[in-house]
Amino acid sequence: MRIGIFGGSFDPIHTGHAMVANYCGQFCGLDELWLMLSPRNPLKPEREFAPDADRLEMCRIVAGSCRGVRVSDVELSLPLPSYSYKTLCRLREMHPACDFCVVIGADNWEIFHRWRDWERIIREFGVIIYPRPGYDVDPASLPENVTLISDPDAPLALISSTFIRNLAARRGDVNFFLPLAIADYIRKHHLYGY
Ligand code: ATP
Repeated sequence: MRIGIFGGSFDPIHTGHAMVANYCGQFCGLDELWLMLSPRNPLKPEREFAPDADRLEMCRIVAGSCRGVRVSDVELSLPLPSYSYKTLCRLREMHPACDFCVVIGADNWEIFHRWRDWERIIREFGVIIYPRPGYDVDPASLPENVTLISDPDAPLALISSTFIRNLAARRGDVNFFLPLAIADYIRKHHLYGY
């Protein structure tokens, strides 16, 4: 069984994330795609995050309506900071019959060489890069075991969690930038200053 691990802070999960999961779950030769909630990202500035339980629940809501997509909370029980290589090794131990690879947005490929053990991730697991507006990746420059989704029909979204958080803090209308159930969840639980 081949499983794609799509990690993130998902603070909150938005339509861009959901599109990556929805697409990779169907078109990338994966049996399943797992949303891996990271409590913290060692490469992003420290700030206050929504509670892990809320971010996890929002991921579960999206996975619940997306075929082949599941949620993993393994990283929540691993020591901080979270390093993907460690998480992947843990997953390999827990599920020896599964073959894991990593799914990232193109912005992360630009800084991938700053990820701890990035060469081992490529060699031992492999990487699938999903295009993200504003971040160009030259397919000819990619090493073996790294694939860029170059399907011109792969849907793109210029949406970020930062944009959603800022908009929610101003009590703006976020309805069509993330699944409606997530917009409702944010309002109901007064996340991000809503
Ligand atoms: P923030 O704005 O808080 O920095 P973000 O929107 O970049 O967050 P993350 O949770 O950090 O979201 O991203 C998780 C993964 O999803 C990363 O691999 C990132 O590249 C990818 N990703 C996020 N948004 C998009 C998007 N709109 N299109 C493609 N990939 C995306």
